[in-house]
Amino acid sequence: MHLNFGHQLVAVDGPARRATFIHTHTDGRKEAVLKDFDLLHVVPPQTAPDFVRVSPLADAAGWVDVDPATLRHKRHANVFALGDCANTTNAKTAAATRKQAPVVAHNLLAALGHAKGEARYDGYGSCPLTVERGKIVLAEFVYGGKVAPTFPNWLIDGTRPSTLAWYLKDRVLPPMYWSGMLKGREWLAEPALTE
Ligand SMILES: Cc1cc2nc3c(=O)[nH]c(=O)nc-3n(C[C@H](O)[C@H](O)[C@H](O)COP(=O)(O)OP(=O)(O)OC[C@H]3O[C@@H](n4cnc5c(N)ncnc54)[C@H](O)[C@@H]3O)c2cc1C
Repeated sequence: MHLNFGHQLVAVDGPARRATFIHTHTDGRKEAVLKDFDLLHVVPPQTAPDFVRVSPLADAAGWVDVDPATLRHKRHANVFALGDCANTTNAKTAAATRKQAPVVAHNLLAALGHAKGEARYDGYGSCPLTVERGKIVLAEFVYGGKVAPTFPNWLIDGTRPSTLAWYLKDRVLPPMYWSGMLKGREWLAEPALTE
């Protein structure tokens, strides 16, 4: 599979099955690229909601401007952010939000004088990639794209499709999400603390 980074879709000619991209090169040079397609799957560019993008909390790109580890706003010490709206460079997943929530909770309590130490988020994100019915690649990584598997390799190899990862997503994660995460009951998302 060849990845074409820096390509922005700008036009689609449906009858001719042709898509036009603007390719921005690393030196800033822009070039129109035409591609023929049989099937086109388009995902719009990610943005924060409008009320975040236009607020003083946003960085130049429109995301809430937080410290990547403490999730505390870089300019407003009494503001924290987590989830898709933050400008952290992790993969924007609910799995990331799950790990960020206890970090924000701890640091918020610490800012109010009710907790000691500083919790730090390591950029964990998880993308369960469904590659066929019954098989998933459980890709887990932290900041910098460093692979960070939850399970030992012999149980679930995060670089290969596996049936066990499918069962994890299909059977284990839904109750964990509804009964654990959303109710604040989690035993595997304890944040690392520094003094
Ligand atoms: C197709 C798809 C598949 C995905 N699969 C996975 C997966 O398998 N695993 C995984 O971990 N993650 C997955 N994700 C990512 C995951 O859904 C997000 O990372 C997660 O939902 C982010 O949570 P959030 O609370 O930050 O934002 P959101 O879930 O987007 O919540 C933001 C909320 O704010 C509300 N809102 C917006 N504007 C306003 C306003 N002005 N006033 C009040 N409310 C407002 C929105 O309606 C929304 O409910 C997937 C995402 C997509 C789109």
